[in-house]
Amino acid sequence: MNRRYRIVVVGGGVTGLMAATLLAKGEQRDALDITLIDAAPRPVFSLDNDVDLRVSAIAAGTADLFDSVGAWDYAAATRVSPYTSMRIWDESDTPESASALRFDADEFAARQLGFIVENVLLQDVLLYQLDKTAAALRFESRIRALRRKPHRYDVELESGQTLSADLLIGADGARSFVRSSVGIDVNEWPYEQTAFVTHLRPEKPHGGIAWQRFLRGGPLGILPLDDGRVSVVWSTSPEQAQAALAADDEETGRLISDASDYVLGELVLAGPQGAFPLCARHAVSYVLPNLALIGDAAHAIHPLAGQGANLGLQDAAELAAQVSRALAEGRHPGDRPVLRRYERARKGANATMLHFMTGLNRLFATDSKLIGAIRSAGMRAFNRSGPIREQAVKVALGVD
Ligand SMILES: Cc1cc2nc3c(=O)[nH]c(=O)nc-3n(C[C@H](O)[C@H](O)[C@H](O)COP(=O)(O)OP(=O)(O)OC[C@H]3O[C@@H](n4cnc5c(N)ncnc54)[C@H](O)[C@@H]3O)c2cc1C
Repeated sequence: MNRRYRIVVVGGGVTGLMAATLLAKGEQRDALDITLIDAAPRPVFSLDNDVDLRVSAIAAGTADLFDSVGAWDYAAATRVSPYTSMRIWDESDTPESASALRFDADEFAARQLGFIVENVLLQDVLLYQLDKTAAALRFESRIRALRRKPHRYDVELESGQTLSADLLIGADGARSFVRSSVGIDVNEWPYEQTAFVTHLRPEKPHGGIAWQRFLRGGPLGILPLDDGRVSVVWSTSPEQAQAALAADDEETGRLISDASDYVLGELVLAGPQGAFPLCARHAVSYVLPNLALIGDAAHAIHPLAGQGANLGLQDAAELAAQVSRALAEGRHPGDRPVLRRYERARKGANATMLHFMTGLNRLFATDSKLIGAIRSAGMRAFNRSGPIREQAVKVALGVD
């Protein structure tokens, strides 16, 4: 009988679940024993619950990835909010000015640029697919220690049980235990910003548009929800974010309406609130023999362009593809050259996006009049440049 390989995925966020689903439903599934572990309880989506605080802008190309494992139709029929346009403008301008950026799906023959989806729904639809496979799911299971053994890792759980992994996939988020316990260094660039997140009801219809206003203190993203509300991600100073959290609903609504320059009129608070400190992180290496990092465990970026989960899901797809290819070639999926192929395919692309987002955040945060003038001229030139615009939209659509 052919050898079966044990894969342990640590982390049941969207990226870990996607990697497990792709492998458990892939052509080489019979050669794999897959176990996914997560310290948290199993996430459950219910339409009876209000739209969750944590939503993500999922590019159309990323939705196709969910479709490829049979997980998109249910999400689409449940509670996703398509967005068809994006408007990006600087605080000194208006969304109508010549230097504001505007992308519309129909100019690229697409029905939408992407979808706003609750993270818990993305997890739920992947779990539904995983339940139909032979993969073992262990929620409320935390790792106590990782031990390097010849050609494998032993994963010791807090329950005292030990799982052996021919390939260990670290998908355990930005403060990855897997990454730190195997000694992979991480570069960090604190943004000195905190993202204040909430849902609000706008006075004017949002029109299916995703809005982004660049303020000196950080960008304000306004994402359209299907029920007419908007989900706001306001990256601002930690003090301002705390003030928004501490204020009463009326005051918080006023703070965000001011920050939005009333582009949708008055915004009235209508949902939960939370604050997330922001920091860019990039692992120096994504792989070791028998181990690969994906998603936020490998890279965490500014939420300003809604790319973090999209990049992590692409990591999951690339790693699953390389594992399948190795198995088809009769190779061990944890061999370093196999995992290096994954790293080579993803690290450069992730680094480019990470540094681009960091640079963009800085470029708009400056008070310098000279840089302000260059910024406006650059945005006007961008609007007139066919190929650059097209490339940017490909990234937004997730088809680049
Ligand atoms: C405010 C904000 C807005 C964002 N908006 C967008 C957006 O619009 N679009 C987008 O693409 N991205 C967005 N992102 C980024 C996106 O949320 C993340 O990139 C994505 O959720 C990362 O997924 P992940 O599965 O890699 O990690 P996580 O979601 O962090 O999942 C890690 C999992 O590992 C588990 N875990 C951790 N430690 C252990 C352990 N020791 N043992 C067992 N399990 C463990 C955790 O319980 C968790 O379930 C945003 C981020 C923020 C902060």
